Amino acid sequence: MSKILVIAEHLDGKLNSSTARAVSAASAVKPEAINVLVLAEAADAIASEAAKIDGVSKVLTVARAENAHALAAIYAPQIAKAAAGYSHVFIPSTTFGKDIAPRVAALLGVSQVSDIMTVEGPHSFKRPIYAGNAIVTVEVDAGSTVVATVRTASWPAAASSGAAPIEALSLDVALPSHTRFVNLQQGKSDRPDLQSAAKVVSGGRGVGSKENFEIIYKFADKIGAAVGASRAAVDAGYVPNEMQVGQTGKIIAPELYMAIGISGAIQHLTGIKDAGTIVAINKDGEAPIFEIADIGLVGDLFKILPELEAQLG
Ligand code: FAD
Repeated sequence: MSKILVIAEHLDGKLNSSTARAVSAASAVKPEAINVLVLAEAADAIASEAAKIDGVSKVLTVARAENAHALAAIYAPQIAKAAAGYSHVFIPSTTFGKDIAPRVAALLGVSQVSDIMTVEGPHSFKRPIYAGNAIVTVEVDAGSTVVATVRTASWPAAASSGAAPIEALSLDVALPSHTRFVNLQQGKSDRPDLQSAAKVVSGGRGVGSKENFEIIYKFADKIGAAVGASRAAVDAGYVPNEMQVGQTGKIIAPELYMAIGISGAIQHLTGIKDAGTIVAINKDGEAPIFEIADIGLVGDLFKILPELEAQLG
């Protein structure tokens, strides 16, 4: 029987919803147990949140000063040690997980499985390749520990009605001193988080400038949405790169995605494959975005957006 260790992603003392999505993927394996591992400086509040996730049988915590920041070099040896006795280690396929999982796999001497979108069996998974244009089935040797990143956009967050026990874990593992935390630079925004927001409004090259992007922010604020962008908008300096949606940006699955002045290149579409309703505003009626949009408005965004906003009251 399988036993799965899910690694909790958290920031500023709060559990990221990517963890509950990784638990959903773990549940699909139908394991005997799913345990969540919280590595932190102060783990209690994060562990309490993790304990509520449905399907979790136990939360394990390792609280030590070295775990104050999610450094892959520091986390990986602890995860590899904690993985003893588990058949699977699942980590969200976010920047956090993509950083840590390869090190864990290397320390355990196994190959990593990346971006699992469906579970075919305990050792068989489907994942996208070629910017989501093809889906490949990956098989892991039955005797080998499965270290996998979970494509969070493919899995709903498991509900939060559980009450799993929390246990402090003591790991006898030497931590490296070659890597240390210097500082974290991140954009501060009061808007919803792009990766977990239910509504996202994105602007592309068609928006034209950094100043013009105000029209996107204003509309997003009106409907309580997060703001995203195409790579062309990022490369042109209209917005910072943490807002990029797509193959080399964020993969998201909002209920509503609005693509404004975005042509619909395959690398952009890869980031919104799992979105619910897609609305496109583009002045070119032949733009590829209209092939996948549920609702398409052909016209000038600078005319249509204010009109839409006025309708919202
Ligand atoms: P454009 O393709 O220039 O489209 C602008 C659109 O705006 C046009 O359709 C135009 O009709 C419309 N428009 C202009 N003015 C107006 C107006 N006033 N009103 C309404 N519509 C208007 N791209 C991503 O987005 N994310 C990625 O992660 C990503 N990764 C990549 C990885 C690789 C390896 C490569 C090669 C490319 C990647 N790209 C990515 C780039 C991608 O191929 C496209 O170049 C990019 O998505 C185009 O952005 P855009 O749609 O904003 O710009």
